[in-house]
Formats: sequence, C-alpha cells, structure tokens
Amino acid sequence: MTTYRDIPSVDRLVQAVQQQIGDTSFPHTIIVQAVRAELDAVRAKIKEQNGAPSNGKDGAQALCESSPSLIPQLVAAVQTRLDKLTLPSLQPVVNATGVIIQTNLGRAPLSVAALAAMHMVGGGYSNLEYDLDQGERGSRNSHLNTLLQQLTGAAAALVVNNNAAAVYLALIALAAGREVIVSRGQAVEIGGGFRIPDVLRQSGASLVEVGTTNRTYARDYAAAINERTALLLRVHTSNFRLMGFVHETSLADMVAVGHAQNVPVLDDLGSGTLLSTQVYGLAPEPTVQESIAAGADLVTFSGDKLLGGPQAGIIVGRADLIDQLKRHPLARALRVDKTTIAGLHATLLAYLQGRATAEIPVWRMIAAPLEQLRIRAQALAARFGSAASVVPCQSAIGGGSLPGETLSSVAIALSAGKAIQPLDNLARALRVGSPPIVARIADDCLLFDLRTVLPEQDDILVERISAMLHPS
Ligand SMILES: *Cc1c(COP(=O)(O)O)cnc(C)c1O
Repeated sequence: MTTYRDIPSVDRLVQAVQQQIGDTSFPHTIIVQAVRAELDAVRAKIKEQNGAPSNGKDGAQALCESSPSLIPQLVAAVQTRLDKLTLPSLQPVVNATGVIIQTNLGRAPLSVAALAAMHMVGGGYSNLEYDLDQGERGSRNSHLNTLLQQLTGAAAALVVNNNAAAVYLALIALAAGREVIVSRGQAVEIGGGFRIPDVLRQSGASLVEVGTTNRTYARDYAAAINERTALLLRVHTSNFRLMGFVHETSLADMVAVGHAQNVPVLDDLGSGTLLSTQVYGLAPEPTVQESIAAGADLVTFSGDKLLGGPQAGIIVGRADLIDQLKRHPLARALRVDKTTIAGLHATLLAYLQGRATAEIPVWRMIAAPLEQLRIRAQALAARFGSAASVVPCQSAIGGGSLPGETLSSVAIALSAGKAIQPLDNLARALRVGSPPIVARIADDCLLFDLRTVLPEQDDILVERISAMLHPS
C-alpha cells in the first residue's frame, strides 16, 4: 500500500525526470507543473484508498502497491503528461459517420491541388496585396475575381471569413438603420446560434417579416416595400424541409418585385453549389449561377460546404454593391488569409476545368458508385472474419444542404451480439484512440459508412477495429 510517506518531494522528482529525459525541450517551469500535477494525483489516489472520497483527479493509475520506490513509476507518469503536451489538440479524424459535410468534423476535406496551393504560398512571401506589374500596393480581393466571375456569371466578387460573415457584412453595409424584408418561413436558425432575425438586429437593420410560415407570395413582398426598405432577403432554408401546403416566392418573382421599386435582392444560399446535385439522384440544391441568372443582386455562399474548399464566405453580384461592401470598415475585420485565397483558387479552378467531381473530395464522395463502395467494404470486412458484415445504409450530405436527402451506401457492421464489449464502449474507444474514428450506432450495430472514409484511411480503419476486437 502506498502511503503519503512514500511520496518524493517536488525537487527530487523534478531531478529524476530531468535525469531520465535528459535535455528536454520543455522549460523547467513546465516540468515542475507536470510533477506537481502528478504528485497531486498520487495524493488523491492515496486518499481514495484510505476511504476518503476522491476529488476526481486523474492519473496515477500505474501506481502499484508495495513498490520499494515510487520514483520510476512517477517519472514515467510525468513523461506521459509531458508527451500529451506535444500532441496537437486538433487532429485528423476518420469520418465513418456517412455525413459528407460534417461541420463538427471540419466540413470539407480539401483537394490535393488546394492543399498544394496553400502549402506553396503559406511558407513564404506572396503578392497578397502587391501589384507585381506596377510595383505598388495591390488588393487581396483581386485574386479570385476572374474565376468567380467566370464560374457564376456575376459582375464582381468578394471573399470573407465564412458565409455568416458574408451575410452580416452585406446587411450591415447595405441595410443598417433601414428595413429588410424576409419571408416568415425564412427567418430561420441555420445552426450554431446563427439566427437570421438576430443577425439582422446585430447589423442594425430591422426585420420586416412577410407572409406566413408556409406560404409567402410576391404580393406580400410588394405590399411591405416602402421608402425605408433596403433589401429583399431570401434565405435558403438549408437544414429543414417544409412539406405539404407550402408556397415560396421564386427568386425571379422576388427580383421582379424588388427591381420594380429599385430595391436590391440578397440571396443567402448557404451551401450553394456550382454543380447540379440531381445528376446523383438528389433533390436540386440551388446553384449560384441560377441565382445570378435569376437577377439576384448579391448571392452569398460557403467555401467549405458543397463547394468543397477552405472555410470562406463568398459574395458575388453587382459591382457597385460589392464595392460598398469592400469599403465598409468591417470588411477588414472579416478578410481572409493568403492560404484561404490560394486554396479557394485551386478549388475554383478545378470547377472551371471540369475536374471537380474527380478531384474535390466532397464531390468524389457524392459521386462514388455504390458498387465500388460495396467491393471496398467486402474486402475490408473479410479481414475481420465472421466478426463483421457488410450492410446497406444511407449517407447524408449534411452541412446545411439537401435536408432529408440521402445516398445509398454500404457500411461495415459490427453487431452487438458478436462484439466483446458494449457498442457504446467500443465506439468511445475508437473515438479516443489514435487516429480517432467516429462511427455511428444503429439497429444494434456499430456502422462504418465507407462513403466518407477516405480510401487511404482504409488500412488504419481495419487496424484499429482489429485491435479492438482482438486486444493483445
Ligand atoms: C451554413 C449557412 C450559413 C453560414 O455559413 P458558414 O459558412 O457556416 O458561416 C448561412 N446561411 C445559410 C442558409 C447556411 O446554410
């Protein structure tokens, strides 16, 4: 039994740690902190053994009874604490959930070309705000204009930190102190606390709701327009679907009403897409080109939803309005970094050159043929013998696009009956190991949907599951 008398002093343990790990990359104060934390944990453990309630501190599990000296164990435990400091908090995860654009898991994985472009400008200087031809100050807003014009048909473009920022900037620059007309059915919460009514209030604009939750007509907008009206706002209801007795005013009709009275129309697409989703048997997600063609004065969409690029908010539309946004002081606070511009450029170029479905991971996953997923799943499942089976499942697009729409997929399934421990425990063990694997439990099975697992992660997926099934 370990007692308080076995516990070495802080100094003694620090010395032992330093002897053991030699010339450490950690400053003395950090080692002392780790030593103190470990000694606290040991004391708590002793207290618990003595019958007093534990204070819940972790660590000191390795403490073995009747050891002549605790020092070697404590040194190892302190070393583990120090090792943990070197691990990044943000780490790659295997997404076996089947949700392609998973906001909690970082949304869109980037294409090889986007990563290469970010790598190329990230490590050195660049002409971010420098006009190389003239040898004078340039604009960071210049780099993506041409591509965005060509891809969307819009006259001008501006890229900011994310789409929430894009909507906010547009509202504050164009509608502060004035009125914005929104259909009652579109005064929605997008997620993460982003509520259209709140964003409008924050921007200093006042919300004028028209129509009803399920039906809003062009005449409702027309009747609400007055001299204080700054904008008509359409919000794509991206994360839910109304069914039944529903009427949304089309964007073209909103444009007709707005333009008749000189009021611009802002279309927040949320995800938006440059490619048709119908090709893959999905419902149509509105494309940016369609919104521009329908006459929207400004269109906002995310860089890291269906576009499949880095986190960004993209605003395209009328040049005079884009200029107003660029000149607003907030634009500076919402601007993007050089690596974002580089990654977005490479992503957009893939669309322009018709390489998007072959190269952009989000589209590769959407386009992956069921048969190909099945062959992959069968090959992987075979490596587990009878412990795993291949079952049909449904993948979701996620990320505030195509609510309720799914793609047929296949999953590797571990059933509760065959697993050696409860599925919850198994799922947790897979999440906390390295690399973390996030799967889902359905119908008494732990499911690994292969559509969202990057093929280069197949081996590690199998290795980690095997280690769980056959602990050595
Ligand atoms: C996702 C979404 C947003 C926010 O976009 P972020 O890129 O996450 O900031 C805004 N509006 C709609 C309709 C959305 O779907």
